[in-house]
Amino acid sequence: MSPKIYTLPALPYGYNDLSPQISEEQLKLHHTKHHQAYVTGVNNILAKLEKARTDGTDLDMKATLKEFSFHLGGNDLHNLFWFNLAPVGKGGGAEPSGKLVEALNAEFGNYTRFKKEFSQAASSVEGSGWAVLTYLKESGRLAIMQIEKHNINFPVGTPILMVLDVWEHAYYLDYKNDRAKFVEAFWSIVNWAAVVQRFEAIQP
Ligand code: MN
Repeated sequence: MSPKIYTLPALPYGYNDLSPQISEEQLKLHHTKHHQAYVTGVNNILAKLEKARTDGTDLDMKATLKEFSFHLGGNDLHNLFWFNLAPVGKGGGAEPSGKLVEALNAEFGNYTRFKKEFSQAASSVEGSGWAVLTYLKESGRLAIMQIEKHNINFPVGTPILMVLDVWEHAYYLDYKNDRAKFVEAFWSIVNWAAVVQRFEAIQP
C-alpha cells in the first residue's frame, strides 16, 4: 500500500458566499494559493524524507522537521477554519447552542465576555497566527489560546473547537492592516453548528 499524500479540500460554500465579510477574491486566493502552499509543502517534505531514506543520504533534520511542523500545522488549521465558517443566513453568525453555551457561560461568565476575550486574543497575536477556542480534556474547561505562525505556543494534543486565521493573507485585500475590523466581521460568519458538533464529539 502506497502512503497517501495531502490534498486541498473543497470548501463547503462558494468563493462568493462569505462576502462581504470575506470577498471572493480574498477567499479564493487564501484557499487556492495559501492553503494549497501548505498542502504542497507537507507533500514535498514527505517526498524529501522518502528520497533521503531511499538514497541513504542525511538531511538537515532540525531544519526539515521545523518546516514539516509549520506546513502540517498550516494545513490542519486551514482545514478547521474553512469548516467553522458559514455564509450569513446559512448558519453563519447564529449563536452557540446546547451544552456549549453552558460551558461558555461557566468559563467566561457570558457569551459577550467570551467574544470580547476571543477578539482580543485574535487582535493581539504577535505577527502571523491564529486565535483558538480549545477544550481542556482533563479539567473539562474551555480555553482561548493563541498560535503563532501555525505551530508555536500551542500545547500538544489539545482539541480545537474553533479557529480564526489572523495572518495578513487572510484579510489584507479586504481590510488592509485593520485586523480588528476583520475579527469583528468574523462573528457574522461563525458556523456555530460545526463548533457545537466538535464540542459534543469530544465529550466523555
Ligand atoms: Mn491562512
